[in-house]
Amino acid sequence: MSVPNVEFTAKEALMLEACVKCAACVKSCPVYRITHDPKCTPPYRSKVLRKVYQSQHGFPYKRDKPRVEELAEDFEEVFKCTLCGICTIGCTFQIQMRETLFDKLRALYEKLGLTKGGIKQTLDSIREFKNPFSLEKDLRVMWISDAESYEVQVPVKQKAKILYFVGCTSALKGALSMIPIGAAKVLNTIGEPWTVLGEEEVCCGNPALAAGGEEVARELAEENVRLAEQLGVEVVVMTCPGCFRTWMWEFPKLLKRKLPFKIIHLTELVLNHVKSGSLRLKQVVNEVVTYHDPCELGRLSGIIEEPREILKFVTKGLREPKESKSEGLCCGGGGLLNLVDKEAWNNLSVFRLKQLIETGARKIFSSCPSCKNTLMSAVEALGVDVEIIDLAEVLGDAVEKA
Ligand code: SF4
Ligand code: SF4
Repeated sequence: MSVPNVEFTAKEALMLEACVKCAACVKSCPVYRITHDPKCTPPYRSKVLRKVYQSQHGFPYKRDKPRVEELAEDFEEVFKCTLCGICTIGCTFQIQMRETLFDKLRALYEKLGLTKGGIKQTLDSIREFKNPFSLEKDLRVMWISDAESYEVQVPVKQKAKILYFVGCTSALKGALSMIPIGAAKVLNTIGEPWTVLGEEEVCCGNPALAAGGEEVARELAEENVRLAEQLGVEVVVMTCPGCFRTWMWEFPKLLKRKLPFKIIHLTELVLNHVKSGSLRLKQVVNEVVTYHDPCELGRLSGIIEEPREILKFVTKGLREPKESKSEGLCCGGGGLLNLVDKEAWNNLSVFRLKQLIETGARKIFSSCPSCKNTLMSAVEALGVDVEIIDLAEVLGDAVEKA
């Protein structure tokens, strides 16, 4: 069977036509750097989509429509990508493969019924449970019981100015519960009315998009936005960069409208309050630390200096690792790579952890539950004595009313 016609926007067409397959971006791709597989490269992945484009538009020459079976053979190569976006920086012409083409490519695979294994199971889980871990919704509030044991109040489904969108990873992975608890402490210190959605919160759709489920992601966006609108919130704050980027950049595209509230990451919110003089930060970590940039927060959302400015207040100082800021190396935690190539995921996380350890710091900060999760696995694999800390975990104790 031939692949049916696919609609391409002008921007997608431009990106596909502009790539000269020079491979300059290849050396920046973390999956290629780990696997050395010439098929695990940005131009190879885009070539799969270009075959479809060429058959419809005849650029640079007309070719026959590719067969579905032909695309099926490239399933692994298409999904062995962390969606880190560094190929845009590595490209001579700044072609936005990740931002423009890779979600579309994954959506095509899902539409043609070509996804399988962990990728398919993840999307099935999101459809059924509205989270990627096949967990019942009452487990979403377990961290709130933990918060109560620390005497941290968490308002649930209240009319409020600020909504804290917790995200599946922090809410459902018990080992990460100090991230939302830290955020709750910060919000209580700020003192403006805030709330969480509790059991009603559903996945932001980030892993659904990574699994090719654009329709599922649209339904989740509708549900989350409807709940936020019902509570009359003005600001939605996140600790998870995946949730942040999805609400900020993907929701308006999926819903074809501007959101009626401001989307902000916790690090931005805290720094804004510090700069306006309503919050003070105190040093709570008595040593020099390092910082790992989450791809979806740093390179893909431009929040690079905010966590660093905060770390300068709350620690004894910051030592930059190799490949940081907008050129930060992915830890492997994105794009559902762990579900298609566990070995590449593990090797990439260990490679990144070694770079972070080379700074000499023994406390490694990030601002992302998935990065924390991934780097903690690398710590276990390497058997080293370092601590992976999410900035939100220490912010709760570091903020005080000015
Ligand atoms: S998004 Fe990252 S992992 Fe994917 S092709 Fe680009 S550089 Fe490689
Ligand atoms: S994406 Fe850019 S760097 Fe990569 S092969 Fe195409 S033109 Fe070359």
